[in-house]
Amino acid sequence: MRTLVVIDDEPVIREMLVRHLEAQGWRVFEADNGDEGIALVGTHRPVAVLCDLLMPGTNGFNVCRAIRARGDELGNITIIVTTGSSFPADRQNALEAGATHYLVKPVSPKEIAAILASVQARPCDCDCDCSSENAAPRPVRSEADSARVRFWGVRGSIATPGPDTVRYGGNTTCVEVRVGEDIVVLDAGTGIRLLGEELRREFSGRQVKAHLLLTHTHWDHIQGLPFFGPIHDPGSCITVLGYEGARQSLLKTLSAQMDSAVFPVGLDQVAGGLTVRELHGLEFRAGRVPVQAIFTHHPGITLGYRLSTPGGGVVFMPDTEVLPYPRPRPGKTTPPGATANEDTQNFNTYKNQLLAEFAQGAELFICDAQYTAEEYEGRIGWGHSCIDDTVHLALQARVKHLILFHHDPTHNDDAIDRIVEHAREIVARTGGSLRVDAAAEGMEIVLHRKPRTPAPAPV
Ligand SMILES: [Zn+2]
Ligand SMILES: [Zn+2]
Repeated sequence: MRTLVVIDDEPVIREMLVRHLEAQGWRVFEADNGDEGIALVGTHRPVAVLCDLLMPGTNGFNVCRAIRARGDELGNITIIVTTGSSFPADRQNALEAGATHYLVKPVSPKEIAAILASVQARPCDCDCDCSSENAAPRPVRSEADSARVRFWGVRGSIATPGPDTVRYGGNTTCVEVRVGEDIVVLDAGTGIRLLGEELRREFSGRQVKAHLLLTHTHWDHIQGLPFFGPIHDPGSCITVLGYEGARQSLLKTLSAQMDSAVFPVGLDQVAGGLTVRELHGLEFRAGRVPVQAIFTHHPGITLGYRLSTPGGGVVFMPDTEVLPYPRPRPGKTTPPGATANEDTQNFNTYKNQLLAEFAQGAELFICDAQYTAEEYEGRIGWGHSCIDDTVHLALQARVKHLILFHHDPTHNDDAIDRIVEHAREIVARTGGSLRVDAAAEGMEIVLHRKPRTPAPAPV
């Protein structure tokens, strides 16, 4: 259970705060003076402190300074000053002394709850690896026997709503993978807004708990996050997992797109339990779903993910340039079966081999297929794939079902129809059994656990 310390010399206020906080599931220690409060903080190491400002003896300013002076993990604790003083100078001094929030009495319990729900990056005591403040202990789950994959945004680069994109959809990348109770969201493009609305409907006031995996922080993969409803709902538990960017931390980039100059609510002000965690290794878990990651060929630091589900591997590689396989090139004199030169082809073979090994045998391979062969000739090195190469990679990796993804903003529904047809023709020429579809908003795929192959009978 998460712990708070309330320091206030007025018994009525203290009692009101303690009653409210305990009803919210907090374990609360209380002190009626600054010195005792500082001692309780040192003993119990709470997540946050609610502290009056004007008290006999050690005042609230000095309580803030004493806690900040510790320099250990208490140095980052959330300190909410609750005071009757609305003077700007007091506010300024309290913040300079180390307060993180300054609330003028009468303080609304709802306001305090919203702040506490948004306290970030502290480990919770639920049985997962998230860091939400309000995560409830999870009931024991029976082992899931399927995974459900839903597409909420399938477009690359920029959202393209309009009459020409109604069948495949115009929202940028977001895919939901459900494995039992685990909700894993892949990328936070504009499609995540719709997912948020659906989750609110489904959970209807109950805690929404999800892990959001970001492949990278290009706009088409994060721009929906500010509009993802559950991050604004007190009690939610959203853990964002991704890698540090080339120039700055993941948290800094996500915060920047919610800076007050461009968005009214800061990332650190959202009412929901939102934790941003940078990944360092290439194998981890999202909830209880095992995940592997691979760096892809795309500007900046970009990852592809492979989720191990009861229904098989789900590989999500929305932004990568599959390097050209030997094939005829539109408008080029290079003979069929060759690209530029031997060194280049060896390098391409090596890089594609790594991707193929990563995706090997996947049930579902959701992969960048942004350009036609003609378009790709003018966009080599942009970090996105030619459809032909994506299909060749899927064949090499012997995946079961390829989903063409990250549709180019200039491709309308009819263009995507032609792309799918072309991709299927390539498969047909190889005689392979690979199934190919283009991702479409609202599409849902259920992957069922495969029956175990019976052991051969003894002879
Ligand atoms: Zn993208
Ligand atoms: Zn990108």
